[in-house]
Amino acid sequence: MAIPLLDLKAQYLSIKEEIDNAVMGVLDSCKFILGPEVKALEDEISAYCGTKHAIAVANGTDALVLALQACKIGPGDEVITSPFTFFASAETIANVGATPVFVDIDPVTLNLDIDKIEKKITPRTKAIIPVHIFGQMVDMDRLMKLAERYRLRIIEDSAQAIGAEYNGRKAGSIGDAGTFSFFPTKNLGGYGDGGMVITSDDAIAEKIRMLRFHGCKNKYYHDEVGYNSRLDEIQASILRVKFRYLDQWNQSRREKAEYYDRLLDPLIHQGKLTVPGKDPNALPVYHLYVLRSDEREKIAIDLNEKDIACGIYYPLPLHLQNAFAYLGYKLGDLPIAEEACTQALAIPCYPELTTEQQEEIVQIIFAALD
Ligand SMILES: *Cc1c(COP(=O)(O)O)cnc(C)c1O
Repeated sequence: MAIPLLDLKAQYLSIKEEIDNAVMGVLDSCKFILGPEVKALEDEISAYCGTKHAIAVANGTDALVLALQACKIGPGDEVITSPFTFFASAETIANVGATPVFVDIDPVTLNLDIDKIEKKITPRTKAIIPVHIFGQMVDMDRLMKLAERYRLRIIEDSAQAIGAEYNGRKAGSIGDAGTFSFFPTKNLGGYGDGGMVITSDDAIAEKIRMLRFHGCKNKYYHDEVGYNSRLDEIQASILRVKFRYLDQWNQSRREKAEYYDRLLDPLIHQGKLTVPGKDPNALPVYHLYVLRSDEREKIAIDLNEKDIACGIYYPLPLHLQNAFAYLGYKLGDLPIAEEACTQALAIPCYPELTTEQQEEIVQIIFAALD
């Protein structure tokens, strides 16, 4: 039987009644924008993450744009981030008129290499966007020390890491602000676009609340030029249902990941592949379970032949994207990220995946690397 990379249909069927009731409730109320569901979701997520504020917005990309703007990042500023992430992590730096500066990644966690950041800090550097890639957190203890030393803002791109922890603190809650995406395939995904910023900084929160609603505090009186960037009530009602399952689903992802680690151990010892790296201080949420192998193409072809999905995250690092050609990077500048892009392969890892399916997938990988 076919195995998808993520089984949203199976997930929906497991909570169908609750979801359908929630959506019907919103239709019944006829409150569609910035109503009680959005407010309740904001309260629930800020309480969960341990921040003073949560502000729901239209998507995870806007969450980054608004957070950057609320931190007063703009033209002339430089913002450091990872080249090994989804495009939006750096696109949004350019969106606010600032310059993305890429620092190579750690070969084990695939997150920003903290040791390489300092060399790229200049008098123009204003902020760092650490990206908790695939649900594995950046070393936030070391990053925050560096940020304090250089007085840099930290905006955690936690789009893939809602519920992950570093030394007991939730992803997104450690820096000045943290952002989430509720894109359908994320660990907490809606049935459409959605996003959120969390922060304990009153000024940042107030600014983002204004920016998401046309720069306006009192209706029809606009203090500045903002955006229309709101989460709608239907999405919020769906997300509130799914949020109740988030910890359970994340725990299940960790169990599947640990089982893969165990099954794949012989191949790791033979040097044929690596599995997601561990940081003893972090609690990951495995948004994706990403293998690395020089034989990635062969594994992918063999899996696809058996109707098993897999995915390349990411095929091209951000410093080599056409859109950033003006920044002047070239091949060889960030070798660890470049190599990861030739080796990384995500295999199915989601709560509804069965033990038998995992074993079938691993068998195919063993045969492919034989
Ligand atoms: C998904 C994602 C985003 C963007 O979120 P959208 O809701 O799709 O706008 C940003 N950063 C990372 C790391 C992501 O994975």
